Amino acid sequence: MSEECLFCKMVAGEIRPDVVYDDEHVLAFRDINPQAPVHVLVVPRRHVATLNDLEEADAALAGRLFLAARRVAEQEGVAEDGYRTVVNCNKAGGQLVFHLHMHVLGGRQMGWPPG
Ligand code: 5GP
Ligand code: ZN
Repeated sequence: MSEECLFCKMVAGEIRPDVVYDDEHVLAFRDINPQAPVHVLVVPRRHVATLNDLEEADAALAGRLFLAARRVAEQEGVAEDGYRTVVNCNKAGGQLVFHLHMHVLGGRQMGWPPG
């Protein structure tokens, strides 16, 4: 755990987000500032700051983020219509919280390219 990390505090139970899915490896909770009717963040329980910090040994963890995103989409009822997953990395990528997370956005039509 990283002491000052917001999402580590959620994983540790010090801050209680609106959790929609959790297991041994990941936690998924509603974004506090939703950009779509469904906006969930999937985070690894272990602190990994950015996508740049993922290593070969984390291949299974990376896969678990995707599997949890799929599960959340099914649970939230957007899997069939479609949804978007996003991982922002560092400043130009728009990353604000430096604990790796996958956004799951659904319930509206997404535009492309994103701004
Ligand atoms: P990023 O820009 O780093 O990819 O996304 C960070 C996300 O975390 C943003 O969508 C933001 O709304 C969300 N967020 C920031 N603080 C909190 C919080 O305290 N609780 C929850 N549930 N989401 C947060
Ligand atoms: Zn963290």
